[in-house]
Amino acid sequence: KYEKDTTFVIFGASGDLAKKKTFPALFGLFREGYLDPTTRIYGYARSDLSKEDLRERVLPHMKIPDGPEGQEKVEKFFKMVHYVQGPYDTSEGYQNLKKIIESHEKELGVKEPHRLFYFALPPSVFFTVANEIKKNLYVPNGGTRLIVEKPFGHDLKSARKLVRELAPLFSEDEIFRMDHYLGKELVKNLLVMRFGNTFLNAAWNKENLQSIVISFKEPFGTEGRGGYFDKIGIIRDVMQNHLLQILTLVTMERPVSFDPESVRDEKVRVLKAIAPIDTKDVLVGQYGKSEDGSKPGYLDDETVDPHSKCLTFAALPFKIENERWDGVPVIMRAGKAFNEGKVEIRLQYKAVASGVFKDIPQNELVIRVQPSPAVYMKFNAKTPGLSNLAQVTDLDLTYSSRYKDFWIPEAYEVLIREALQGDHSNFVRDDELDISWKLFTPLLEYLEGPDAPDPEIYPYGCRDPPGLKKYLEKHGYNIAEQHHHPYTWPVTSPE
Ligand code: NAP
Ligand code: NAP
Repeated sequence: KYEKDTTFVIFGASGDLAKKKTFPALFGLFREGYLDPTTRIYGYARSDLSKEDLRERVLPHMKIPDGPEGQEKVEKFFKMVHYVQGPYDTSEGYQNLKKIIESHEKELGVKEPHRLFYFALPPSVFFTVANEIKKNLYVPNGGTRLIVEKPFGHDLKSARKLVRELAPLFSEDEIFRMDHYLGKELVKNLLVMRFGNTFLNAAWNKENLQSIVISFKEPFGTEGRGGYFDKIGIIRDVMQNHLLQILTLVTMERPVSFDPESVRDEKVRVLKAIAPIDTKDVLVGQYGKSEDGSKPGYLDDETVDPHSKCLTFAALPFKIENERWDGVPVIMRAGKAFNEGKVEIRLQYKAVASGVFKDIPQNELVIRVQPSPAVYMKFNAKTPGLSNLAQVTDLDLTYSSRYKDFWIPEAYEVLIREALQGDHSNFVRDDELDISWKLFTPLLEYLEGPDAPDPEIYPYGCRDPPGLKKYLEKHGYNIAEQHHHPYTWPVTSPE
């Protein structure tokens, strides 16, 4: 509802996130006709940049349509963009910004201003900037919003501090905590798929499912830029936030409606039903050199501590103690420097009754979030022809072939648009954040404490760390290759 005449300010506009994600997402929305031309975008930072410098930084990251039409869009977009230089810790820069914003608002005849402030900044300055915004740029009646990005803290204590500091300045309604996984098409589809399909919904429970595995694999390591990663590790980087969001959406109950608070209430409810993570039952790893020696190990990265025990891989078990899930293992596994990059959710169904079938493969429903979004069900059918034997095949929804003519927006485009519309559904609420840190903090303390296990070293580029196969089997996931019916996917359409 606030799409017209909005002022969008990016603090930290000189940085990496702003150039790679925020500005390109705003351009993407503009390109597709979802950003009103009355919007004004201000980049704000301490660096001495001209508007031209900013444009040069952002341009290589924008998706520009071919031909003169694309160039015209670029020119029109940059007419909406301005750069304001100023400090974060004194009011003078904010007062300057205020004058510029007010003069634009006056020009447009805006009566009730709508200002959205995006923090592309390190969390160490969140409070300072939020405080100055409140003093200098705040407009009441719901007209002010903040978008903040991860990391929301390093542990429960620091996350609570962040929440406590912002709470007196801005109401929960005014804060949009962004986890960009919530803007991914297949993550957004989870609730529709689950609750919009009787056949899936009816079997989404402990009676029918044997295990759930949520996987994140990256095909590269830190590649000489591990300084930041070394302080956080894989669990904080993707598991406590992105993969936990996926787990929550996969396991929550049906909300009474799709309004933001109903969805977030159910997310919180299932998080509360998760038992403490069994610290003795985790698998941890760090990548070493590739088998042929051509790729460096984690400790070869000169920006990391040479004795670092930082985890580049972890597999964690979750137990959800409620009626729907009691006894179904949910495994989250994530790691860097593997054979491929992918994010997927794999639900393995229980075996069919024995008798007529001997050793028939279990069904699996796979939701591939990236790359190349797809949903497929590994499914048994009679081998065509005279044979009566069963064979694994698939029911396949590959987005690139089924939805050729659709524009599938980037996660940042989706979420910035939702924040512009004031829709909190896909943003993290304060209580949700608190529970997620409560769940992960004891595990992190153990893994970073004196009794921490040494990470298992796995070679850069391998499929999985050596111990994972056994670990998954122990947790109820039957690896497909063990079956006598190996399955290969016939690629019939472009990925
Ligand atoms: P960045 O490039 O290091 O910082 C952004 C800008 O903030 C810098 O250009 C700098 O601008 C200012 N800044 C940096 N350090 C500061 C300090 N100590 N005190 C005051 N200002 C400082 O960071 P980023 O990669 O853009 O990320 C911004 C935030 O988003 C971080 O919290 C990061 O964890 C999070 N994030 C980043 C990404 C990503 O893709 N990069 C993805 C997800 C989340 P001036 O000096 O010009 O003022
Ligand atoms: P799969 O390759 O059989 O793997 C299933 C699971 O078992 C994965 O978690 C895999 O681990 C694990 N696994 C398999 N062999 C293993 C081994 N030797 N050691 C350790 N773990 C092992 O997957 P699938 O679902 O049957 O698909 C096969 C291929 O077809 C995939 O590349 C898939 O993307 C493709 N496919 C694509 C579509 C589509 O795009 N629509 C549809 C169907 C299939 P990892 O995750 O570590 O590999």
